Amino acid sequence: MKVQLRVITHSEIQCYLDCRRLYYYKYNLQLQEPVGKALRMGSSLHANMALYFAGDEVKDILDSIDKQYTSLLFSDDEYIRDITKAMIIGHDACYNRSEFETIDVEVEFRVPIIYDANTHKVKYAGVVDAVVKHVPTGKYWLVEHKTTSSITPAYRKRLEIDPQLTMYLLGMVQNQEEPYRDMKFEGIFFNAFRKPTINPKQGESQEAYAVRLVKDYCGRPDFYFFRQECLRNQAELDEMREFLWYRAEELSNPPPDYARNRNHCDSWGGCAFRPLCIEFSDELCMAYERKPKLHPELNSAE
Ligand code: SF4
Repeated sequence: MKVQLRVITHSEIQCYLDCRRLYYYKYNLQLQEPVGKALRMGSSLHANMALYFAGDEVKDILDSIDKQYTSLLFSDDEYIRDITKAMIIGHDACYNRSEFETIDVEVEFRVPIIYDANTHKVKYAGVVDAVVKHVPTGKYWLVEHKTTSSITPAYRKRLEIDPQLTMYLLGMVQNQEEPYRDMKFEGIFFNAFRKPTINPKQGESQEAYAVRLVKDYCGRPDFYFFRQECLRNQAELDEMREFLWYRAEELSNPPPDYARNRNHCDSWGGCAFRPLCIEFSDELCMAYERKPKLHPELNSAE
């Protein structure tokens, strides 16, 4: 069975590199992993940082977050709501907002894969969290937000060669849509938010915990927030072109066995498809939801 590829994304490539069997489940059978707390936390922050970079006032964003969580679907929704609010408040207190002028948020690119003067039939696509002008220098940057459990020197070092950042920069360099066609990008501002290290105390109300969260985020900005300017030179962008070409080739003609990578089974809290890997059956497949589209991270129709 082959996937009818029109575009590939960073998530798809990463999944294929992690485990080909996992790729088969997610991109051939289009099965949906259960959406865990970490993903819901990240989605909540991204959606609301989009409002922030679009210019909304913090008080309006906080009101909007409350409205987003009027119906509590998961037991930890209040927890995620209050962390999102504390992150937005702390971030606003930590940085000078007027340093950036936002060109747009959630900018989607869909561009050809060109390598060695050849254009692949597969395109690649992605969504950049924001494109901004750095007001003091007049230079253009991409912005990527990320929630993380820890910010170590090794974490920062990995950003120097993070393939997603390189891929997004290349995508925007190639983007022929206005106003990006002739825009020169300096690099990517990596905007990280650390998850809280304080938990609700025994008997503490949600309201009291929310107040403590805000105090903690505002009181320890160096602990909870960090930004890094991630630069890429021409050689790195060219190497990414080559990388994308060969991944597009592989994904157009994947080996039929979709080999398991057992080293990946316990990553990120454990693979959600382990039961299928142990004993595949159509009945078990039916227990998983189907992804509404192959790449839910893209805004546009596929
Ligand atoms: S359980 Fe392991 S081998 Fe199976 S799909 Fe998941 S990561 Fe791959």
